[in-house]
Amino acid sequence: MAQKPVLPRVILFVCESCQGRYSANYVREHKGSCGHCHGDSWTLKIAFTRPRKQFYEYFGVLGVAARLIFGSEDWDESQQYDFDFPGVCADNAFKICQVPYREQYRVLEYIKYRQQLDAEQQREAMIDRGGQVCSQCGALFVPIEDKPWTQAGYCSKVCFSQAFADFSQGHE
Ligand SMILES: [Zn+2]
Ligand SMILES: [Zn+2]
Repeated sequence: MAQKPVLPRVILFVCESCQGRYSANYVREHKGSCGHCHGDSWTLKIAFTRPRKQFYEYFGVLGVAARLIFGSEDWDESQQYDFDFPGVCADNAFKICQVPYREQYRVLEYIKYRQQLDAEQQREAMIDRGGQVCSQCGALFVPIEDKPWTQAGYCSKVCFSQAFADFSQGHE
């Protein structure tokens, strides 16, 4: 049975140009941009009534990524938790708010989207730093001089030896 999603209790859009704070209804009425200054970039602020721990549990494996993004301080059952997502464009803001009463669910979808985006950016950053794709398992790694298997194009000793096991099997 699918776990019931933990819905955010507060959703707030802060205009990154004029710092105005607006509700999802306001953002919907203005088609995603700021009605005050016509800004088109938002910081999305959300708060959950339930503790952050349950939020992580709901997101499962993604929760690990969330923990990296949001930090992992000790849980306080009574505290209200806030999450900030800067740089939400007008299009995405409108997509979140488009359908009345659906914004809580759309925000959860948006969080998943942002996590994917962050993972992709981390991958690209790693390639920029000289990262390589392992010839055996496809994982990204950065070659290090004192780890000869990385020089040969493998992320780990295990992948290195597996690659040669495959090779000898193929030629028997
Ligand atoms: Zn504004
Ligand atoms: Zn590997």
